[in-house]
Amino acid sequence: MIPLSVPVLKGNEKKYLDDAITSGWVSTAGSYVTRFEREMADYLKVPNTAAVQSGTAALHLAMLLSGIKRDEEVIVPTLTFIAAVNPVTYLGAHPIFMDCDHTLNMDLEKLEMFLKTECTKTQEGLLNRSTGRIIKAVVIVHVFGSMADMETLLSLCKEYRLKLIEDATEALGTKYTEGSLKGRFAGTIGDFGAYSFNGNKIITTGGGGMITARNEEDLKKAVYLSAQAKDDPFHYIHHEVGYNYRMTNLQAALGVGQLECLEEYIEKKRENYGYYKSLLKDRDDVSLLSFCEKARNNHWFYSLLLNNHKSGRDELMTRLRESGIETRPIWKLIHTQTMYKDCQAYYIEKAPFYQSNLINLPCSVNLKEADMNFIVKTLNEG
Ligand SMILES: *Cc1c(COP(=O)(O)O)cnc(C)c1O
Repeated sequence: MIPLSVPVLKGNEKKYLDDAITSGWVSTAGSYVTRFEREMADYLKVPNTAAVQSGTAALHLAMLLSGIKRDEEVIVPTLTFIAAVNPVTYLGAHPIFMDCDHTLNMDLEKLEMFLKTECTKTQEGLLNRSTGRIIKAVVIVHVFGSMADMETLLSLCKEYRLKLIEDATEALGTKYTEGSLKGRFAGTIGDFGAYSFNGNKIITTGGGGMITARNEEDLKKAVYLSAQAKDDPFHYIHHEVGYNYRMTNLQAALGVGQLECLEEYIEKKRENYGYYKSLLKDRDDVSLLSFCEKARNNHWFYSLLLNNHKSGRDELMTRLRESGIETRPIWKLIHTQTMYKDCQAYYIEKAPFYQSNLINLPCSVNLKEADMNFIVKTLNEG
């Protein structure tokens, strides 16, 4: 079986993990946690980061610290993994769903149209006239590792006084190579950024996440809230409702080892993407989706767009599976999921097309040329 995406743990992970176990520090206090935070901060060229249990926890804290309150609203994409949206609900707020464009990232022309024509700037904040609620923030997802247009987002969020939260859970290592944001990493440009180290992400800690914030105080607050908001650890005094979200030393030990491999993995992902692309170049019924041209993207996932392909998408996936090749469709659109079907969705027109015409191809870092030859040969048979 050629799997869709599996982790590769072949560096110092085991050594660091052994070291953490031997030290007896397995829980949230332990030197690997702060070391991982420091090394991530150095990699991302930011002053600091905060390590948590998951990307979802990172997004939850980022939204909380953005000041999103009960009955307020947050603009989110419909085409993404649901963890980008659920924290809005955790806070008692409401999502407004936006369409995607040909990059799979949020359609910013539609976002601008929505802000311009449907909203009014007021003393209390940006009023959504159709619901009467205040819109507090935008959550942008760098889908499959492709940089979203952050220049446009920064200016829109500034003009409409919205917080900008970057879900960079799929985009660790993606960075601008030109323009005014040259050198800046996905997840370090908005007010907050969130990363994930889940098993299928570009590097993994089994499960884990990381927060970045423009404001240093927010990061300190994130750490505080992630560790039960303890004001006096001896007498158990708390002045706020906290969470049990802090990363453990065991996760962080894996993370330190994985981070050492990140650049090599990105190189490999980009190389494999290029190889797939060369194998598919003469076909007009399928094509690989491209990534943002102004960035060095991490090429986390490879999406194949079917263009009047003679077998339908599901038939093609079945045939690939019968040949031992695992593929996946992309996510069911969130505005159509049971919990969110009554929420506002603003002219969702392109996302359904991509949802029904894309499949994700095997993309693990340890994928061999022979695997890709076989996958494309199998694609060619139908
Ligand atoms: C993986 C992912 C998350 C959640 O990360 P976890 O670490 O699994 O909680 C959130 N958003 C997107 C877009 C993701 O792909």
